[in-house]
Amino acid sequence: MRRILWFRRDLRVTDNPLLSLGGEVLPIFIFDTNILDPLPKNDRRVTYIFEQVMRLKRSLQRLDLDLRIFYGDPVEIFKVLEEEGFDEVAASGDYDSYARARDTKVSMILPFNSLHDTHIYQPDEVVKDDGNPYLVFTPFYNRAGSLFGKAHLRHYTPAKQRLLAADYKEITEIKGTSKKSLPLTLGSLGFEENQPSIPSPEAKLSALEKKLQAYAKERDYPALDATSNLSPELRFGVLGIRELLRFLAEQKKRGIDTEPFFRQLVFRDFYACLLYHFPKLAWENHRYPFNGLKDRQKFDAFSEGKTGVLIVDAGIQQLLQTGQMHNRVRMICASFFTKDLLLPWQWGEKFFAQHLLDYDAASNILSWQWSAGTGVDPQPYFRIFNPWLQAKKFDKEAAYIKSWVPELANLSAKHIHDERFMLSYRIENYPGPMVVHKEAANKALEYFKKRVAEGVEHA
Ligand code: FAD
Repeated sequence: MRRILWFRRDLRVTDNPLLSLGGEVLPIFIFDTNILDPLPKNDRRVTYIFEQVMRLKRSLQRLDLDLRIFYGDPVEIFKVLEEEGFDEVAASGDYDSYARARDTKVSMILPFNSLHDTHIYQPDEVVKDDGNPYLVFTPFYNRAGSLFGKAHLRHYTPAKQRLLAADYKEITEIKGTSKKSLPLTLGSLGFEENQPSIPSPEAKLSALEKKLQAYAKERDYPALDATSNLSPELRFGVLGIRELLRFLAEQKKRGIDTEPFFRQLVFRDFYACLLYHFPKLAWENHRYPFNGLKDRQKFDAFSEGKTGVLIVDAGIQQLLQTGQMHNRVRMICASFFTKDLLLPWQWGEKFFAQHLLDYDAASNILSWQWSAGTGVDPQPYFRIFNPWLQAKKFDKEAAYIKSWVPELANLSAKHIHDERFMLSYRIENYPGPMVVHKEAANKALEYFKKRVAEGVEHA
């Protein structure tokens, strides 16, 4: 059997189902021009992925294998590879709309062997008795818990594989039927280095051991380093989900309550499952047709972190400067965007997608729909976060805010959390709050109620 092993969201050798298949193999990674072309040339995710691909290449070499790297459109690349004579392409399942459409096209060129790897459950594993997907998280979570077993902790051991002869030293660029060899550098892809400084997955996992003990109590406080920060590693499979689950099982044996953390991982599965069953959620509301009001000026203030609403601006600064943002702050920002500013959630989703290092279509889209109250499991649209109260509760000393908005360094936490004070206080080179929360929230409510009264609810 001659197999192409196509690495995508599983950039590791440990416990990788692809390596458990025997025979003659050609491990490959594709830098997909459909994804790369629209990105800014200093996109830090490309640096991150390039590094992880190089790391994978070195790990494969230690197993007497290697990684052949391509640059181009996957469909064109497989058309060229097909002529080299293969029996199949094996790859881990990738469930968002673009990936599924791409894999369907590839499967018309070569038999496609899809292996489950990226999530705990297969996308049609946690379903209701009648086979329909769950729309609400808690019953999904309960069912997921009842189905969880040894199979979800399985460790794949490498099989005997023989590497096919090929050029592994360069990047092969394919355009149509023409091939070109490019040096093995980030610059060959037209990108410049933008180093996201993040610790290794091993270091994160070892830090998690301590964090788990206080995870439930501390995970909502953005000034604390209390969460795993593992979302980029999970997104690209640099750390396998089963390895993380086995780690949790070990911690549980030591008497640590791992349930709150496991619950978040199930959230990730829930969102992947929803997008798999309802791909239209990527651009359409499931429920209320609140489309928001398009206002470029408001959007610009938000996306530059210049709203004057300090917790929101701090979150945007963290995002722009590091590609990361704490979950609680993501929720506050998304609520402010869709409620206080009444902007279309699709705009916010796209903005996050451009900057998040851990960008994952399912988690991002469904979280934005949740915040807007338009998703499958919407919080009632009339529940609107008050960003000032949220900041006071979750960033009491304003340590998070001050770390990302240095203009506020000399202000007391008391003043920073006081909307009325901030509305009248002037800071050099920094705007005052662009909306008064109560007024903005009332305006949003009126808009939502009017839309509902017009009888235009989808569900
Ligand atoms: P931990 O608290 O350590 O959680 C462990 C893992 O569980 C995370 O790494 C992540 O894989 C998963 N997880 C945790 N919380 C959630 C959640 N609420 N929803 C889904 N999965 C979760 N997460 C992404 O991975 N990619 C995104 O593009 C993304 N966009 C988001 C957009 C908005 C508006 C909101 C509110 C949330 C979004 N999230 C997204 C979820 C969450 O914010 C991040 O997963 C989390 O902040 C990552 O930090 P962590 O690894 O320290 O999480």
